[in-house]
Order: sequence, then C-alpha cells, then structure tokens
Amino acid sequence: MMPITLPGKFPGSSVYLFGPYTYHKDKRCKIPSYRCTYHKTHHKCPVVIKKENNNYVEKSRHNHPKPPNIEEKKKLHRMIDDGSIETNLSAKEIFNELRQSAEKSQMRPSAVKVRVSKKRIANLPVEPQYFYELKNSISTYKKTSCLFRGIIEAEDGSTAIMLCQEELMKHIGEVKEILIQQTYEVLFKIKFLKLLALLINFIFSFIC
Ligand SMILES: [Zn+2]
Repeated sequence: MMPITLPGKFPGSSVYLFGPYTYHKDKRCKIPSYRCTYHKTHHKCPVVIKKENNNYVEKSRHNHPKPPNIEEKKKLHRMIDDGSIETNLSAKEIFNELRQSAEKSQMRPSAVKVRVSKKRIANLPVEPQYFYELKNSISTYKKTSCLFRGIIEAEDGSTAIMLCQEELMKHIGEVKEILIQQTYEVLFKIKFLKLLALLINFIFSFIC
C-alpha cells in the first residue's frame, strides 16, 4: 500500500490517498506518518498509517463511512461554480439541481451556500472609479451585460448608460406615457451618479 499524493485544499498543500481514505501527513513525526482527514471532524477518527520497514501499516480502524470520491467532488465543485457565475439561481436552487451529486459527495446545503456566495463575491467586477469604467463593468459583467443597451451622449456633454431587457426595448415605440422616477443618487464611488427609472408599461432604466 503506497500513498497517492494529491493537491490539497490550499495552495502548496497535499492530501494523501490510501485506498479510498484520505490522510494528512503528520509533520511532527520523524518516521512518515499519515493521519486520517476525519480526525479533525466530529468523528475524531483514530486511524494513523506509519511507515515500518518499507511497509505502510494502518493503526486502528476508521469509524466513519468512506469519504466521497475526490474526482467526483471536484466535478461537483466545478458545477456549483458554473451555476454561481452563469445563473441567477439561489444557493438552495443550485443545491436542489445538484442534489444527487451533492449527497453522494456528502456536501451539505450550508456548504453549497458558502461556496456559491464566495464564488459570486470573487466574480464581482471591480468597483469603478470613473464613469467609463462603470460602462465597461456593466457591459462585460455576465449578469448585467444582458441589460446593457448602450451609451447615450447628450448635447451638454453628459452621458447615460442605458439598461433594459432586450424584450422590453421592442415595446418602447408603442409607449404613450413615460414617468421619470429618481431612485437613488450614489452608486459605487461615482458621486454624481443618479439612477433614474423610466416607467412605461414596462420598466427600464437610465443611469445618468
Ligand atoms: Zn478515518
């Protein structure tokens, strides 16, 4: 029985596979020793594998089910990450979509929620300092690019970013009345920014 070394959770770290079980190397021991990764969970698994005369000897027995397959777990993580970035589904909805894989990989809804939240925060565009940067953020960020309809430049030099669902744009020509409502004044660090909602039969917005 020889260990298989795999990349660990953190950069530069490793996890070791002996059969289906995963281990961390116990760096305090002079002779190579590996402690079950479930030692730090509520199971407090006592299994330690030590190298003795070129053999790896397992001490005691695992007190928990076999851990999920690492490759399957990585695949699940990729699917959760894709769902976080590509869709507007909530963490609960993503979990429900992937319930079978999540249960197989022993991943709880709370862990999915944390992963979705971290991924979405990491994927947010950089907070813009200037108006032209805001346009770039909106037009390239996946969740707002579908609303970005273009830039409007007025005669007085002011500029507006137009956001509207493509489907609603088709109905603008049919509108007989437009109401303008200012919703709030400051977005990001651009103090002069105002968000105006133009209310028609449907709602679309100008930021100016
Ligand atoms: Zn164990």
